[in-house]
Amino acid sequence: MNDRGQEGRAGGRAAADVVAAVVRPEIRALTAYAVAKADNLVKLDANESPFPLPAALRAKIAAAIADVAFNRYPDGPADEVAAALRALLPLPGGCGLILGNGSDELIQIIALALARPGAVVLAPEPTFVMYRMSALHAGMRFVGVPLTAGFALDVDAMQAAIERERPALVFLASPNNPTGNLFAAADVERILRAAPGLVVVDEAYGAYTDDSFVPRVGRFPNLLVLRTLSKIGMAALRLGYAVAAPEWIAELNKVRQPYNLNALTQAAARVLLAERALLAQQAAAIRAERARLTEALSALPDVKVFPTDANFVLVQVPDAPSWFARLRAAGVLVKNVHGSHPALAHCLRITVGTPAEDDALLAALKAMA
Ligand code: PMP
Repeated sequence: MNDRGQEGRAGGRAAADVVAAVVRPEIRALTAYAVAKADNLVKLDANESPFPLPAALRAKIAAAIADVAFNRYPDGPADEVAAALRALLPLPGGCGLILGNGSDELIQIIALALARPGAVVLAPEPTFVMYRMSALHAGMRFVGVPLTAGFALDVDAMQAAIERERPALVFLASPNNPTGNLFAAADVERILRAAPGLVVVDEAYGAYTDDSFVPRVGRFPNLLVLRTLSKIGMAALRLGYAVAAPEWIAELNKVRQPYNLNALTQAAARVLLAERALLAQQAAAIRAERARLTEALSALPDVKVFPTDANFVLVQVPDAPSWFARLRAAGVLVKNVHGSHPALAHCLRITVGTPAEDDALLAALKAMA
């Protein structure tokens, strides 16, 4: 028996009592983000790329990882990866760049940097859930503004909320998750001009559209563009990045952990980011397959397909929980977003897969009708 005693007690206290005394009620009320297990299922639930890496490229990555000095800390600012990203995009001259352990980490860093008593995070809803979560983690107040019925930004309502709440931080995911649509650039620009604080334009799905706010970074002093490699074939790496004026990046670097990007990720990223042709070809293939998939889905009775600019498509069906379960039983995993927001009633979010995976989905859906 150790000094905590048989029941995990020291000095007569139970862990649950200490937790209740010191962990904030809003954290205790949360449920941890659940990631579905996809063993042996066609995986269309997480907006990943469906393409595995070619064998020759895997061998190159293995060699690069074998060269990593495992006894040393990684390069803190990940300068070589940052230089490779600057070359790949390219980024506008003079803008700052910060890398994160996925864009999830950058969302958290941004919230932590801007948190102060009473500070507000504002975002349209429904949108990516981590904006609300990260605001809550940082002790900020989250204000959601409903999108229009067609999932466009309600700019007048956003502007009124901005004037009322004076948010330190606004998040706009464009294309938006889980609705899939790109917001009109003019609407985003109006919000940039109205907002007193930072506006994050999250382009996690930017590879699947033609427009980007990266070139506008120099024009708006309060614009930060967030991107990730997760949706273009490198979800396992956990590598996201933010582009903004150097003044913003300097502050965010003070909140970033010194070694947030591990050396294995950095080694693999240096190899992968040189594969410009492969990345472009895979994104083009996914866009072509998206067109085929959305057309085939639209032809199904009882399936309403929302327009998408991302590598996934939102659909509405007569009974999402039952359709989700039946798809799963047929070997296809999608994301059931029913219940997460009233505007998403009976909606499923389906990632664009390979043609064979999408055929499996379509066959399963046809069998249900
Ligand atoms: N932003 C949006 C809009 C997303 O949908 C996601 C992934 N679900 C992320 C950011 C986070 O991506 P990652 O942490 O993999 O870069």
